[in-house]
Amino acid sequence: MAQDATKKQWVKFFINELVSFTALFAILGGIIYLSFKDSINKNINSGLYGQKTEILRSQRKAKSGGDSIHPYRAQATPPPTDNATFRTHALIFDKNGRIENAGMIGQGAFSAFQGIKLVKRNINKVKGLVITTQFGTKRSNHYFMTLLIKVPRTSTNSTYSGKYVLILQNIDADLLAMESFKKSLFITLLIFWALAMIIAYVLSRSSMRPILVSWKKQREFSADAAHELRTPITVIQNQMEYLLTKPKQRILDEAASISTTLDEVNQMQTLIKRLLMLSRGDANIIQIQPKSVDLKDWIKRTFNIYQPLAENQHKTLQKNILASGQVIFDPDLMHQALVILLDNALKYTPTGGSIDVLIKRLHGRLIISVSDTGPGIPDKDKRNIFERFYRVDQSRNTKTGGNGLGLAIAKFIVQQHNGKIEVRDNYPHGAVFQISIPITREKRHPKTDKP
Ligand code: ADP
Repeated sequence: MAQDATKKQWVKFFINELVSFTALFAILGGIIYLSFKDSINKNINSGLYGQKTEILRSQRKAKSGGDSIHPYRAQATPPPTDNATFRTHALIFDKNGRIENAGMIGQGAFSAFQGIKLVKRNINKVKGLVITTQFGTKRSNHYFMTLLIKVPRTSTNSTYSGKYVLILQNIDADLLAMESFKKSLFITLLIFWALAMIIAYVLSRSSMRPILVSWKKQREFSADAAHELRTPITVIQNQMEYLLTKPKQRILDEAASISTTLDEVNQMQTLIKRLLMLSRGDANIIQIQPKSVDLKDWIKRTFNIYQPLAENQHKTLQKNILASGQVIFDPDLMHQALVILLDNALKYTPTGGSIDVLIKRLHGRLIISVSDTGPGIPDKDKRNIFERFYRVDQSRNTKTGGNGLGLAIAKFIVQQHNGKIEVRDNYPHGAVFQISIPITREKRHPKTDKP
C-alpha cells in the first residue's frame, strides 16, 4: 500500500518534470525557429526593397546596352535548368499588363514568367509566388517573393518611367535552408529531450528521497506513539478489572491499586501532551512568542518548583547564575525545555547526588547548562538521544517511566530559538546538558528542521 503510494508519487514527480522540460524545449525550439524565420524574411524583404530603391533611383546609362538593376541582371538570364537558381528579376509591365523586357530576361526564364499577370492592386505589397517549370518529364516548383512598384513618369530612366515593375526574388535557397534548419533543430531538441527524460528520472528519484524519509519517520512516530500508549492503557485496564473483582472493598483498602492507576493516567497525560506538542511543531502551529524576560525572575520560577522536589529526594540542586538583566526569548517554552532537563537530571541522579544549573552569557548567547551526577550518557547514544522515542537503556527507563520524548521536545524548543542543545560527560560521572541560544540576534525565523 505504502509502496503503491510511493510509486504513484514518484510517477507524478517524473511526469511533472518531464512535462516542464518538454514545454521548455517546445518554447525554446519555437523561439529559435521563429527568430530564424524572421531573420530570413527580413533578409528577403530588405532585398526586395533594396531593388525598389535602386529602380527608382536608376538613371539611364547611355552606352550600357540595356537597362537593368544589376549588371548580372542586365544580361539575359540563362534559361532555367533543373538546378538553376534564378535569384532576382524584374518584370516590366506597360500599363496594359504586357511584359516589356521579355528579351532582356532571356527566353527560358521568360517562358517561366510569361504567365505572370499584372495585378495593380498589389502595388507596394510583398506577395508570394510559385512558378512551375518543366524539363522533360520533370516538373519543379520555384518559390518567389514579389514586390510590385509603379515607377513615376518623372523617372529619367525611360525603361522604367511610367511602368509597373514586378521585382521577383527567388527564395528556393531560403526555404531549403529553413527546412534543413527545422530538421536539425528538431533532431537537436529531440536529443536534449531524451537527456531531459534521464534528468527528470534522476530528479524525480531524488525528490522522493526526503519524502520517503519523512514518511518513514511519520510511520515510526505513529507506531511508537501507539506502543507507548498501549502500556499505560493495559495497566489501567488490569487495575480496573482487578477493582471490579472487589466491589465490596473500601477505597482505602485499594489505595495502592488506585494510585498505580492514577500514576499511569498521569504518565499518559504527559505522553499525550508531548505527542501533541511535537505534532503541532511538525505542522508549524507552534509559534514562539519572544518577549523581554528578567533572567533572575525566570529562573526563580523554575527553582521554586524543583528545589523542594530535589530536597524530598535527598539530592542537591544548586544554581550558579552568572547572567542577569533582560533577555529576549519565549519564557514559557524555555521554561518547558529547562524543566525537561531538570526532570531528567532528577530522574537519573541517584539519592545523595547533585544537580548544578549554570546560567551565563557568552559571546552574545545565553548558556544554560544542567549537570548531574547520574549514570551519564554513553558515547554511542549521545548522537541519538535527541531523537523521538530514543532511550538509552530500556531497563533504566522502565524504572524511571520515561518515554523518550522529553529531549526531542527540548531540542525542538531550542531550535525554535535558533539555538543548540548538546550533551557531554560530567566528571567524574554524570551528564551535562547545555542549551545555547542567541540573545542579541533576531529570533523570528527559526530553523524548521525537526528533531
Ligand atoms: P525520557 O522521557 O525517557 O526521559 P528523554 O528524551 O528525556 O526521554 O530522554 C531520552 C533518553 O536519554 C532516555 O533514555 C534517558 O535514559 C536518557 N537521559 C536523558 N537525560 C539523562 C540524564 N540526565 N542522565 C542519564 N540519562 C539521561
